[in-house]
Amino acid sequence: MSHIMNTYARLPVAFSHGQGCRITDTEGKVYLDALSGIAVSTLGHAHPKLVAAIAAQAGRLLHTSNLYQIREQEELADRLAALSGMEEVFFCNSGCEANEAAIKLARYYGHKKEIEMPTIIVMEKAFHGRTMATLSATGNRKTQAGFEPLVHGFLRVPYNDLDAIRAVAEHHQNIVAVMVEIVQGEGGINLASVEFQRGLRQLCDEQEWLLICDEVQCGMARTGKWFGYQHAGIQPDIATLAKGLGSGVPIGACLAGGRAAGLFGPGNHGSTFGGNLLACTAALTTIATIEQDGLMARAERIGTLLRQSFKEAFAGTPGVTDIRGQGLMIGIELDRPCGQLVQKGLEAGLLINVTADKVVRLLPPLIFGEGEARELVERLVPLIKDFLSA
Ligand SMILES: *Cc1c(COP(=O)(O)O)cnc(C)c1O
Repeated sequence: MSHIMNTYARLPVAFSHGQGCRITDTEGKVYLDALSGIAVSTLGHAHPKLVAAIAAQAGRLLHTSNLYQIREQEELADRLAALSGMEEVFFCNSGCEANEAAIKLARYYGHKKEIEMPTIIVMEKAFHGRTMATLSATGNRKTQAGFEPLVHGFLRVPYNDLDAIRAVAEHHQNIVAVMVEIVQGEGGINLASVEFQRGLRQLCDEQEWLLICDEVQCGMARTGKWFGYQHAGIQPDIATLAKGLGSGVPIGACLAGGRAAGLFGPGNHGSTFGGNLLACTAALTTIATIEQDGLMARAERIGTLLRQSFKEAFAGTPGVTDIRGQGLMIGIELDRPCGQLVQKGLEAGLLINVTADKVVRLLPPLIFGEGEARELVERLVPLIKDFLSA
């Protein structure tokens, strides 16, 4: 019997090593990785620059403490501020922690405005994490069931519906922020429209609300821009990052600018591990490699190629209801639940995912090339067609 707490329905495979976009299981079978450990392995596996940087840092110093100055952390904050248009960064270790920091910031902002019960507007189908506050912000009953009482102070509206938010604004005096994923990942690769994003920015300005973008999955160049919101040319007050930031080394970040900057002082928030030397070195190397190797433009190009190829391959295929995404965040929606495609993919040597019951989700590493893209299409399309006609 396993001594691991039963929180994941795990597939019957374990991996021993990887190289680039390929990963090898303990039996020696090689898989094409079109998932990146859920948008984490930005640089693929065993990237020589990342391996060298981590090894060198491990040989110097892994951890000191946020009781001291940390050069690597300051350098990473500088880089992230420049890339995001933000002013300051809090470092933590995961996406839910980054969102916890964002939620605390928004509440703190509210209290400074003498709003006693600050409330954050959140979206249907949102995913923000598994801690008590972030599962309460998440728009999926399955994530919440059994964990009541939920954390108060969230108000849910439909995604991409500005009128719903305007209606909420008229009836509630306690709103302090709106929290949104520019591309919903777990919710099924749903894109916030440009009009919605710009309207939201305008509404937040009018109401003096903070705009919080959860970029944990869609950030770090995955959509073809450093941050998803940059496609619409908007600037949020808070953005959160994690998954792809360290290319496999755990690190999260909560970035603040505008009205959200300068709020926290010593004692308001903290993290023992957050922003340690190893994690910051991994993130700095990830960012530098994305820049040096042109991986952002590549994400855009390969993503477009993949979506076009899938659209051509599935043209007239009953059962495929939509193909959508941005950059290397791609969803193929079917007309039926298709969780079993994950196992079929595994048998065929493909790492893919299914989310929101019927959306095949692809999140390849940003080093994915044209050859890998064609191979993915050639191997995945028959799998889906066979499944639909079975
Ligand atoms: C994965 C995810 C989270 C949670 O991140 P963890 O590191 O698992 O805590 C939060 N928000 C979004 C958008 C995510 O995709």
